[in-house]
Amino acid sequence: MKVLDKNFKVFISQEQIAQRVKELGEMISKDYQDKNPLFISVLNGSFVFTADLMRELDILPQVSFIKVSSYEKMSSTGSVKEHIGLNENVFNRHLILVEDIVDTGNTIVKLYEMFKELGPASIEVASALLKPEAYKKEINVKYVGFEIPNKFVLGYGLDYDGYGRNLKDIYQLAE
Ligand code: 5GP
Repeated sequence: MKVLDKNFKVFISQEQIAQRVKELGEMISKDYQDKNPLFISVLNGSFVFTADLMRELDILPQVSFIKVSSYEKMSSTGSVKEHIGLNENVFNRHLILVEDIVDTGNTIVKLYEMFKELGPASIEVASALLKPEAYKKEINVKYVGFEIPNKFVLGYGLDYDGYGRNLKDIYQLAE
């Protein structure tokens, strides 16, 4: 499939994603049984994963959104820019940061440190995808959908220059 100037092929199907998100939902529901966690969805990319994950939970969670960016076209710029912040009080809350993908980890580390300062009861990270070859940071990504090779992916909320976020499957750049 062509998006702008690049060819992509299906890498993880919507059925595989749905099955895995259901499993993550069960894990989180079990771990937060008697808690009311606050999910902090990191926009733009994680809106699809967040929507699916929230609906697989059988606890009473809240959700809020934060917008940051570090990517331009197809690579990380290294610096993380914050565009919109949160209104919720996170003091003493159980936070779960929700990412579409953890690549270098710059984004998640910056957010983790920022939220830690605000005195939450706990912080965990959930990410639909993780690139272990690129991620060398200390913070544990507790809830990972799929570990994937260090290649550019698209779909399920992830974009190529703003396009492809609506694709139901996850695509990889075709050689
Ligand atoms: P990090 O800060 O971990 O390097 O990158 C995090 C952000 O970069 C993600 O939230 C995502 O927006 C973007 N990103 C990283 N890898 C990919 C990729 O393979 N495809 C797309 N579309 N975005 C990516």
